[in-house]
Amino acid sequence: MPTPPGEPRGAVARHTAYLPHFWDKATNSRPIWRIDWGHPGFTHRTPPEPTADHQPTALVRSWDRPAPDGTGETWPYLHRGACLGCTWEGPDRRRTDEAVEDAHDHTHPGWRDLPAVPERQGRQWLTHVQHLYPDGWFDRGGPIRTVRIGIEKQHKPRAAPGGGYDLAVQPPKKNDPVTAIAEVLPLVFGGAEAA
Ligand SMILES: [Zn+2]
Repeated sequence: MPTPPGEPRGAVARHTAYLPHFWDKATNSRPIWRIDWGHPGFTHRTPPEPTADHQPTALVRSWDRPAPDGTGETWPYLHRGACLGCTWEGPDRRRTDEAVEDAHDHTHPGWRDLPAVPERQGRQWLTHVQHLYPDGWFDRGGPIRTVRIGIEKQHKPRAAPGGGYDLAVQPPKKNDPVTAIAEVLPLVFGGAEAA
């Protein structure tokens, strides 16, 4: 949906405009776009600082209306991928994780092709991961893709080695023919840590 005239655009501008309404008890601030709680740039008081380069975050607002995609369902919230370094915003999404993925398409193109690795485990883990990922990737705030075998399936902000997102990947099904995961898993699960 187009941005109404006069409305701020981009994560930093929107969150900065949101904060006074959040503290003003007379305003219902829920329908105002802001950075989602816990995501990069989220603050309660001081406006967020823009980053020097493109960095992902996620916006949210309450909605409680029919889905913008015309499916007829009611969505309680809208989510959008956004950037802390510019005013880019992604399409309206139902789930936070979809918005986070949109944001990475903007800030870290190519992330979808990176190998999925096991969740952080032991001293060897970081060394293995750094060999598998492009040079300097994590220093640029790049995400890591981890296979989640527990109940936690959501993307996690600030959980990559350089402070970027840990993006969840579903474990491969038993009979999946080929995945990068199968090559990587034995490195750690059967590695020196266990000895
Ligand atoms: Zn950007």
